[in-house]
Amino acid sequence: MTSGAKTLPLYDVAVIGGGPAGMMAAGRAAERGLSVILIEKNDSLGKKLLITGGGRSNITNAEFDLRVFLSKFKGNDKFLFSAFSQHGVQNSLDFFHAHDMPTKTEAEKRVFPISNKAQSVWNVLVAYMQSGKVTVLSNTPVGGFTAIEDASGTRIQSIRLKKNPHGLKEIRATSFILATGGTSRPETGSTGDALPWLSKLGHTVITPSLALVPVTTADAWVKRLQGVTLKDIKISLLQDGVKIMTHKGKILFTHFGISGPTILNMSRDIREQLSYGKAWISLDLLPTHDYGTLNTALQDIFKKEINKKIKNGLSSLIPSALVPVIIELSGINPDTFCHSVTREQRLALVQLLKDVRIEATGLLGTDKAIVTSGGVALPEIDWKTMRSRKVPNLHIIGDVLNIDRPSGGYSLQLCWTTGWVAGSNVGT
Ligand SMILES: Cc1cc2nc3c(=O)[nH]c(=O)nc-3n(C[C@H](O)[C@H](O)[C@H](O)COP(=O)(O)OP(=O)(O)OC[C@H]3O[C@@H](n4cnc5c(N)ncnc54)[C@H](O)[C@@H]3O)c2cc1C
Repeated sequence: MTSGAKTLPLYDVAVIGGGPAGMMAAGRAAERGLSVILIEKNDSLGKKLLITGGGRSNITNAEFDLRVFLSKFKGNDKFLFSAFSQHGVQNSLDFFHAHDMPTKTEAEKRVFPISNKAQSVWNVLVAYMQSGKVTVLSNTPVGGFTAIEDASGTRIQSIRLKKNPHGLKEIRATSFILATGGTSRPETGSTGDALPWLSKLGHTVITPSLALVPVTTADAWVKRLQGVTLKDIKISLLQDGVKIMTHKGKILFTHFGISGPTILNMSRDIREQLSYGKAWISLDLLPTHDYGTLNTALQDIFKKEINKKIKNGLSSLIPSALVPVIIELSGINPDTFCHSVTREQRLALVQLLKDVRIEATGLLGTDKAIVTSGGVALPEIDWKTMRSRKVPNLHIIGDVLNIDRPSGGYSLQLCWTTGWVAGSNVGT
């Protein structure tokens, strides 16, 4: 260590990643009396957890028959069985209920907190860690492991930190739990940082699938625009009225739905959102105008083109191919003269031009119910303990494992199970 750098004590356990899996594992290890430090690169824990289930968090699926539950993980049940026999759906529900978080079961056996708030789940996990006196270091990006070879094989000695945050260069521990997540929604912190470290330690890492695929819709007007391309528009992905992401770019209308580079790049996120519920694409056709300037532009057009029908007036603002569709969606009679468009109709038109909605129904050629995660190959984990078979003092949990997860609470259940099992077995 460089002179002047701080040194922390040798912890029993260092957990990397403060998502649901890491928090559960840290809380459980601390409950067993171990000294635990959890390291998180974001300024706060569980950013992705807080957006799960549209902000309501579908924490598990109330399927209590273990074989039926595990059959949803398509062929991976043989790996998951021993972990789930130690901590399954009922154990997770008992855990949250014992921590004063009542739950309710909705359609398709999806379980949510009664509060309808992912924050309730977050609160339970943070309180669980606090009661075990887990040291939490946030704003602390981990850069990799320092490993040594000894008689028992490869062992991790310490965690290297990026940019010496808090004057620290490394964190030492006897055992390590890796919970850095997968690669979806990177803005929440899940950027796949650990995948190269794991490869270096000898693990087989399956590359996450980045399927760039067109998006399907049942909206008939989209298909009528087949072949039309719109450039320099704003394209947003929405779920439950909440804007998930926005990109500026191009859209191509096709006979099955929408495509083009911007849509292809968003397709993985669209697939992810579709696995949690309905999803919409919203087009802002005139991103350089705000609502006020667009209203003025329309007023000017309607004044200038006073004797033209609206269907002929609008083409100075938007591509002519789009005009009949916009008029149809607005509900205005296309034969209305520009001078007789009412203020309400004009304001509704402004709203529409800034937010044309297309319901995404799926992705072309892929099963929308499955999120392909990528990550560590499952046979390389001892599922009784979640210990790495390559590095005996490393446990690997949560989304960093290569498991295709169906929607319906199965992903978070996987975090509770693998986190609990790692926390229960670490250091033994
Ligand atoms: C929009 C959306 C909705 C979802 N809804 C549901 C749902 O309702 N039900 C369900 O079961 N599943 C849902 N999921 C899936 C679920 O969120 C994930 O399965 C879960 O968050 C995985 O938890 P994790 O702890 O393994 O990883 P993550 O939640 O990804 O957490 C990993 C943590 O590690 C940190 N980290 C990463 N790299 C480093 C580093 N180098 N140094 C330090 N820290 C690092 C990250 O910042 C992050 O905080 C949803 C996912 C999305 C994207």
